[in-house]
Amino acid sequence: MGKGKGNNKPGSKIPSTVPQKDHYSRISYLLNATNHFTSSSKYNILSRGYARNLDLVAKKTVIKLTPALKRSLCKKCNTFLIPGLTLTVFIENESKSKASHNDVLVHQCLYCHSKKRFPIGSNRDYVVFSERDDVKVSST
Ligand SMILES: [Zn+2]
Repeated sequence: MGKGKGNNKPGSKIPSTVPQKDHYSRISYLLNATNHFTSSSKYNILSRGYARNLDLVAKKTVIKLTPALKRSLCKKCNTFLIPGLTLTVFIENESKSKASHNDVLVHQCLYCHSKKRFPIGSNRDYVVFSERDDVKVSST
């Protein structure tokens, strides 16, 4: 089907070559470096610099990051968010009736104290589009 040299079976949807492979590998490297340097407070600024580079490379090359990866970076200060280390997670309900369908999952960055809010009460079984079973691509 494709022009690539890969040994894909006919009819398989996985392409034999990955377009913009160098950009993907650069993003992967920056993510690993960010993750590594976040764990030590000594290199906090370096970690945020790598995370900022990661975001800029993704934007410049128009590569879509997965929602899980996007949610692991603070939009305000580019801190790599690790629960318990650089992130607190709690459920908030500011409605008067305290009904469970008004629950909001809050991710708060411990560095800049900015919050991301996810309304989880309205649909408890919500799954991000990229993580749905009918969309997932198996790696085998
Ligand atoms: Zn932050």
